[in-house]
Amino acid sequence: MRSRFNWEDPFLLTEQLSADERAVQESARQFAQGRLQAELEKTLRSGYDPAIVRELGALGYLGCTIKGYGCAGMSQVSYGLIAREFERVDAGYRGIMSVQASLVMHSIYHFGSEGQKAAWLPRLASGEVIGCFGMTEPDHGSNPGGMETQAVTVAGGFRITGHKMWISFSPVADLFIIWAKLADVGKGPNAVRGFLVQKGAPGLTVRKVDDKVGLPNGLTGEVMLTDVFVPEENMLPQALGLSGSLDALTSARYSIAWGALGSAEDCWRRTLEYTLARKPFGKPLAETQLVQKKLADMQTEIAIGLQACLRVGRLIDEGKGTPEMISLVKRNSCGKALDIARTARDLHGGNGLRGSYRIMYHMMNLEADNTYEGTHDVHALVLGRAQTGLQAFY
Ligand code: FAD
Repeated sequence: MRSRFNWEDPFLLTEQLSADERAVQESARQFAQGRLQAELEKTLRSGYDPAIVRELGALGYLGCTIKGYGCAGMSQVSYGLIAREFERVDAGYRGIMSVQASLVMHSIYHFGSEGQKAAWLPRLASGEVIGCFGMTEPDHGSNPGGMETQAVTVAGGFRITGHKMWISFSPVADLFIIWAKLADVGKGPNAVRGFLVQKGAPGLTVRKVDDKVGLPNGLTGEVMLTDVFVPEENMLPQALGLSGSLDALTSARYSIAWGALGSAEDCWRRTLEYTLARKPFGKPLAETQLVQKKLADMQTEIAIGLQACLRVGRLIDEGKGTPEMISLVKRNSCGKALDIARTARDLHGGNGLRGSYRIMYHMMNLEADNTYEGTHDVHALVLGRAQTGLQAFY
């Protein structure tokens, strides 16, 4: 064992990447630490400027795993590496990419008609069009199968009525994927279908969630639909039942698994610097056993978590990915990252409460990561069901 330990990259993750993936990681890091970091300073309290979406599009970050339609066709591992670098700065930027790519473009690419793909994917990839994904309702988050939004068949299409809650980017969206139950199919999860609804459709209104404290740099809204007419050709033809929307959510969860660890890394590295510089008893805080133990715990969980994400990314690229393995890493990354952020906050003392030290921002972001796309406990139920064969949701 003569090799030197690389404390910043304990398992030499970078060496496990292909040359292309390393290049993606490096350019995403430079873009995030330069451009996104500067942009965040400007928009920290006001919410992100939608103009940044076009910039992400021009750089090939939107829908980056899709082949064709103006998309970059990268590996899933590359997608994860970008998510990690973006969220190292702010989960809001990772969220723009995840919603546009995993929730909106993924749904159209996998479940849309050729006409829908050609009409929307290139414009979503460039950032000309901002998309959102409306599944959650005020009374149905963890149990989307209970959704009440209904689509009634009428001449030439459908009329949709319902209420969606917590819809990321809906206040600025041009295109809404609305999940609703087809009234003629019944009330069960098999009745769920996806519909493409354009901004300005009569009967469609959006209200920003103004009192949101978590994920401060993200735009979230409520979407109200009253008898909104959707032409027949705007239904996603291949999304039959709830499985279509859940498939898109699985892809988004994968990017959160990488992203949350990006936040954790930023908290860890800031804490290391802070405790090396801070000397409340005449020597660095980092020279105490208690603090070194906490730094070691952060390093350990991040290193193990990243290896797990890399493994899952490789398995998806090989066609062996499953929703359960993504539940496992999403749950692990979010839970561990939150613990790391809370410890980092504590080790920054009073300064940890200040925005400029950024730890509280990561904490507020990670609370959202831990909840959306399936809560920590709901993913435990997914993993419990896989082990026991028993359904414990209800
Ligand atoms: P609930 O389902 O009411 O859960 C409350 C608590 O009960 C949680 O702790 C949960 O773990 C627990 N719980 C629930 N069921 C069980 C059970 N069977 N057993 C034990 N415990 C249980 N949705 C979209 O459709 N599109 C979006 O773009 C989107 N963006 C979002 C952005 C943000 C910032 C947030 C906060 C949410 C977003 N969501 C979005 C919604 C998100 O996916 C839901 O908030 C999430 O699924 C949880 O649902 P809920 O809030 O209704 O909580």
